[in-house]
This record gives sequence, C-alpha cells and structure tokens, in this order.
Amino acid sequence: MALNAKSRFVIEILLVLLLAGLTGIFTLRSLTAGLRPLGNASPPISPIEPVPKPTSEPSPEPTPEPTPTPEPTPALRKRTELLTLVNPWHKMQEGYEPELRQVTWGYGDDDQFMDARAADAMIQMIADCVEAGNDPFVCSAYRDMTMQEYLFNNKIARLVYEEGVDPKDAPDIAATTVALPGTSEHQLGLAADIIDYNYPYLNEHQEEMPTQQWLMEHCWDYGFILRYPVEKSDITGIIYEPWHYRYVGVEAAQEIRDLGLTLEEYLEQYYEPIND
Ligand SMILES: [Zn+2]
Repeated sequence: MALNAKSRFVIEILLVLLLAGLTGIFTLRSLTAGLRPLGNASPPISPIEPVPKPTSEPSPEPTPEPTPTPEPTPALRKRTELLTLVNPWHKMQEGYEPELRQVTWGYGDDDQFMDARAADAMIQMIADCVEAGNDPFVCSAYRDMTMQEYLFNNKIARLVYEEGVDPKDAPDIAATTVALPGTSEHQLGLAADIIDYNYPYLNEHQEEMPTQQWLMEHCWDYGFILRYPVEKSDITGIIYEPWHYRYVGVEAAQEIRDLGLTLEEYLEQYYEPIND
C-alpha cells in the first residue's frame, strides 16, 4: 500500500523520535554504568585526610627480670678465744686452764674467780648493779673439772634418791641443768651465776628479782650475755637460766643482744665453723 507523503513524514518523525529516545537511554546507561546500586552503597569515602594508620605503640623493650643477685655473703669472721663455744655438743679443749682473777670479796669464804679477761668487766658490773640499789651475789664462777664432776654427780644422786628418777635416765636429765663435765662454760672461766641475794634459788623466779632485771638489761654493756635465754633450750641444750652470764666482750655481747640470737646461732651465722 503506498503511503502518501504526509504519512511518510509522520513515520520519519516517529523514527527520529525513537532514535533520539534510544540514544538517550543508551547514554544514560553509560553514565550510570559502574555505579553501585544505592542499597549496597558503602558510605562515601570522605575526601578528608586519610586516618593515619595508628602507629603501633612501640612495644617497650621487655625489661629483663633482674637476676636475683645473691646476697653477698659477708666474709665469715675468725673465732676468738673469748667466743669459745662450749655446750653439750662441743666439749672444751682438754686440760684447758684459764688465767684466773678473783672477782668477789666479802661474801663468806666462797670467793669466786674468772678468766682474767672477764674479771674487770664482772667487778665493774657488780659494782654498778649494787650502786643501782640491788643485791647481786656471784654464787658460782670458775669451776675446775673436779668441781664440775662433783656437781654433776651430785645432781644425778639427787635425781635418783630424792626424785625417784631411773638411774639410767638420770645423767641425761642432770645434763640439762648441770653441764656434763667438759661441757660447762664455768670451766672456761668466762661464765658466772649471779643471783639476787634476797632470793637464793636457781629457778625461773630469779628473773622477777630486781637484781636479775637490772643484770638482764645491762649485762650486754659490760660484755656479758644472758647465755641460756627462755625458749632456746633446744639450741643451747640447757634450760632457761636467768642467772647464768657469759663473757664474750662488749662488741659481741651488744651484737648478740641486737640480733636476738643465742651464742650458738650467732657463731654459726657470722663465724667460721669450728674445726673439730
Ligand atoms: Zn651457770
């Protein structure tokens, strides 16, 4: 069917419009190509400075655990004769005889002697104790072997005959109060038993007497130590004796007081071992 000119013109216009429409669609698609659908859009990357990557905290050099420095062991001191240890486990040197000096006058006929190196200190201590209003009585200082044996055997006899102790057990029991001959500090001449004249008994109540309280407080300044302190019997081997004073010299005595040690502990911690 032949189209007339008017119809051809209308068709041409329509074709042009169609072409233009298609071109427009095509262009639009090109422009939007590559854009993601809005629904999944990531937040737009803001053009501001990029957040600097956090510099990782410089990990501190691990401080090496300090290797525990061993306490420098102070050089052990050499034992002196004034620090001679005599106890149930350490006998005194056989035949040892100290140079003696008298330390008491005027208390009956039972004068007492001590190692000459301890005598002045003892005399001064007793004089000052009296001066302070007390009544000290040195009842036993130096003893020779014969005297120590006599005292020891006498103690055994009293235990057996007066207290009914089995003779087999008596020597061991006796040794806790009267040192076995050869293991008594009295034989060294460096020890003395001092009591309050108003309470002439060797028992724990001595500690309540003014004389004893003065001595226990001041003996250290004269070079004496309270040798058998309370609750130290397992170390000293001897019962608590608040009357037995041992001369060791002022420096050692004050050190022992400050450290709160027995002579055994003090020697073991600060002095070379005994070679015997
Ligand atoms: Zn004694």
